[in-house]
Amino acid sequence: MGLTTPPAPVNVAALFPELANQGKTTVRLHPRRGTPAVTDSSMGGPLLWPADEPWPYCEASEHEDPSGLWGRVAMVPVLQIYARDVPELPFPAGTDLCQVLWCPVTHEPDFAPVLDTVWRDSRPVTEVLSEVPEPIESEKEYLPSPCVLSPERVREFPSARVLPTKLHKKIRAWSTSPSNPEKWSYQYHLSTAPGTKVGGWIDWIQDPIPMECDRGHEMQHLLTIASWEHDGASCKTWTPLEEQHLLGAYQVPELLEPADIMTGGSTYLFICLECPDRPVETVSQCS
Ligand SMILES: [Zn+2]
Ligand SMILES: [Zn+2]
Repeated sequence: MGLTTPPAPVNVAALFPELANQGKTTVRLHPRRGTPAVTDSSMGGPLLWPADEPWPYCEASEHEDPSGLWGRVAMVPVLQIYARDVPELPFPAGTDLCQVLWCPVTHEPDFAPVLDTVWRDSRPVTEVLSEVPEPIESEKEYLPSPCVLSPERVREFPSARVLPTKLHKKIRAWSTSPSNPEKWSYQYHLSTAPGTKVGGWIDWIQDPIPMECDRGHEMQHLLTIASWEHDGASCKTWTPLEEQHLLGAYQVPELLEPADIMTGGSTYLFICLECPDRPVETVSQCS
């Protein structure tokens, strides 16, 4: 089923000419509970993992707990995205599948899971690994429930957290003025799409963190893995038309936290497109 974000109730680019060139397209992935196959794009679903390739484990020392139970922790699937569904991802030449896994344990210093991004060519994979290790049971909030994706392109504007002070003040003045009788909030209703998405502006929860790779290149926002698809405020403008009849009960978990993960906020992935090995870095923020 396709999901459609309603048109923005206010044209902020017309209202604030400073925003006219600031619109970006993001791909909202709209994860919803389902039963994806290895041949589907998914969140928390089974990965197309070749039978002759060992399953990845996190060897980080942070989880050497005294009982010795967690010497090595099996990574768990978070996202699998085929190029046919989201061609906007920067697939390296010869690849058509992006797989994101994480270690489902809180790691210092971010107190967030450690991630692994794999780009592969799905075409030669004929035999899929049958013995995928069971995830450890320690931190259930890091084990995403299987969801299917319904990618949707939407136009969005920068988070209020990255606006120049002067413009920010101007927008704040407008939001409480009589010319905004509906009391729309730029930040929650009109700027950045919330939820799990590919590219576009970052829905920062805290202050923005500019990301550079080890060689000093500016990194690009690859995708966001969000604990919530929206909150009590942003649901007013970002809930898809097809689900608005559920809005009154917006606490329904399938809408609010479809993948049932709880990192306390969002995990942002950044990629360097200048380095040949395309390093990916992660930032997690909590609300
Ligand atoms: Zn780990
Ligand atoms: Zn670089």
